[in-house]
Amino acid sequence: MLFNKSFKLKYKSSMILVLSVMLLLLSSCSKDIEMKSITDFKEGTICTISLPANTDDEVFDECFAILDGVEKQISRTDIKSEISNLNNNKTAILSSETYILFKASYDLCKESGGAFNPSIGAAVSLWDIGGENPRIPSDEELNSIDSDYNKVTLDDKIHQVTIPDNMEVDLGGVGKGYSANKLRKYLQTQNIERGIINLGGNILLLGSKTRNKDWTIGLQDPNNGTGMAYIALSLSDISIVTSGTYERYFEKDGIRYHHILSSKTLYPAESDIISSTIISNNSTLCDILSTTCFVMGSKKSLDFIKKYDGVSAIFLLTDGYIVTSDNFDFEYKILNDSYHMI
Ligand code: ADP
Ligand code: MG
Repeated sequence: MLFNKSFKLKYKSSMILVLSVMLLLLSSCSKDIEMKSITDFKEGTICTISLPANTDDEVFDECFAILDGVEKQISRTDIKSEISNLNNNKTAILSSETYILFKASYDLCKESGGAFNPSIGAAVSLWDIGGENPRIPSDEELNSIDSDYNKVTLDDKIHQVTIPDNMEVDLGGVGKGYSANKLRKYLQTQNIERGIINLGGNILLLGSKTRNKDWTIGLQDPNNGTGMAYIALSLSDISIVTSGTYERYFEKDGIRYHHILSSKTLYPAESDIISSTIISNNSTLCDILSTTCFVMGSKKSLDFIKKYDGVSAIFLLTDGYIVTSDNFDFEYKILNDSYHMI
């Protein structure tokens, strides 16, 4: 994203205050294997990459360069990105990679009946939640924009996407998952088998903590202070992505307006889920599905995700119950006594 420095810093600190980093690494350092972590602000969030301490600095540099590259490629707020080009001209021939990502998002949009909707960008712009001027758009403004995904046309042969005049595309709900997959691919070329990629709470674990031990990952407790986890999970070689209302929001007259919008109302989606976590090998899919499930609500989501192989879910509900998908068989420990597993 194109932030000027003062905004970037202001945003950085407010990010910490509003608990936008949801996932905590409870014990990311192993006694046996020394790790080195580097943190930077990329893709509008705090990104930390932890790799074995003997990893060359150039590898870390390349990881952050990859994140810059993704931002230049797909950010809605980078005026030179492919997505900005599409939004400005309403038609664009995308690079293969961007087209594949858009198509995956669009396919999931159709499968989810628009719960996940990459053509919701004009509404995201109006609300500007997490931006410099968040506000409640007027009905007139919301009525004047188009987010009907059926009006998007895709040409697989030449990778062309065309949208109506009053529509904008936004891949903010999938960008970090996509970036994490890209980082894993790069790190594999460097033969790095162990590490943690944490892009603002979108986690991708490489390997295990030690040969016989999983990583321990804590999911941020939305009803508690930053750094307080509601559950600890034991996991290896997998991605864990969380979406929730407590990540990015603003408050007006005592009402919280968060950053995940409903395609139907173009207002922040109302959900029985407060924190929606998806676990699978594919971080892009995790990112899309965590946002999708939040919008869909727990009941529909648990049925919906069954069609995606190797995908598990854990949702913290607004009433304090924790619900998991049937295939959720990871070791866990609940850390807040007021929550109960259904
Ligand atoms: P974060 O990116 O903060 O981790 P999400 O992955 O849940 O959170 O994505 C939220 C972002 O996705 C919003 O900031 C916005 O850019 C975009 N978005 C909002 N509502 C939707 C939606 N219904 N479908 C797809 N993308 C959305
Ligand atoms: Mg997402």
